[in-house]
Amino acid sequence: MIKVTAIETGKARMKTAQRIGRDDHGAIGRKIDIFRDPNWVEPLPILCFLIEHPEGRFLVDTGDTWRNSVPGYLPGWNPFYKQVEIKVAPHEEVGSRLLALGIDPAKDIDAVILTHFHHDHTGGLDHFPRSRIIGPRENYAVSVGLRGMMTGCLPQRWPIWLKPELADMDGPKLGPFSASHSITRDGAIVLVPTPGHVDGHVSVIVRGDVNYFLAGDATYSQENLLAGKTDGVTNDPETALATLKMIQLFAEREPTVLLPAHDPEGPARLAANAVLS
Ligand SMILES: [Zn+2]
Repeated sequence: MIKVTAIETGKARMKTAQRIGRDDHGAIGRKIDIFRDPNWVEPLPILCFLIEHPEGRFLVDTGDTWRNSVPGYLPGWNPFYKQVEIKVAPHEEVGSRLLALGIDPAKDIDAVILTHFHHDHTGGLDHFPRSRIIGPRENYAVSVGLRGMMTGCLPQRWPIWLKPELADMDGPKLGPFSASHSITRDGAIVLVPTPGHVDGHVSVIVRGDVNYFLAGDATYSQENLLAGKTDGVTNDPETALATLKMIQLFAEREPTVLLPAHDPEGPARLAANAVLS
């Protein structure tokens, strides 16, 4: 028996032009659109997902941290950080959320799986000093150093002990996905490549009679997925769109509950087991 639990770790606001990029604008045009856009979307949840599996407890993404609002935490030279507003109270961090569920993050989580290394997915890593931390190798490569700091990652804020186990998409084809990478021996928790939002982004599929598709930021919402709308921060709109089609194809073949990291309706779909159709 596998159980998936949604955990909200505070809120993020972004410009409307980030949530949905203009189809006729490329990667650079879309970023200019974000800077020009005066309109903000409503505060969106920053979600993590706990997977309780016979082989252990797995956490997908770690949310952001209250420290995001400490002056100096975000690099002042990168104007992009002013286009996103993160609000996390200390008790909203994933560590406190897990403790409230009776789970000690310092010893009860076997592995943390990162869909990608953006700051609102890695901000809670400090809570897991004794867990395996698994992340996609291809995304890690573009998330470190100056390049990472220019593209939404904060490698200078990662815990000093962080040495992620880097996953390659070296396993068999899974449905429409050309490759996969199983996390558990039984294959019930498996990574698939969902690039586009960033290079090397992966999603986590929890396999069962109903599949749970933990999409990270492959899409910001089910609505955007169904409408074929890619986001404004992608550096590769075509690949992002191909990923949306791939997720849709997967869900056409097998009943699947879609759970992106910032979809306000995700937790209700999880509670109702409402599959994508
Ligand atoms: Zn992201």
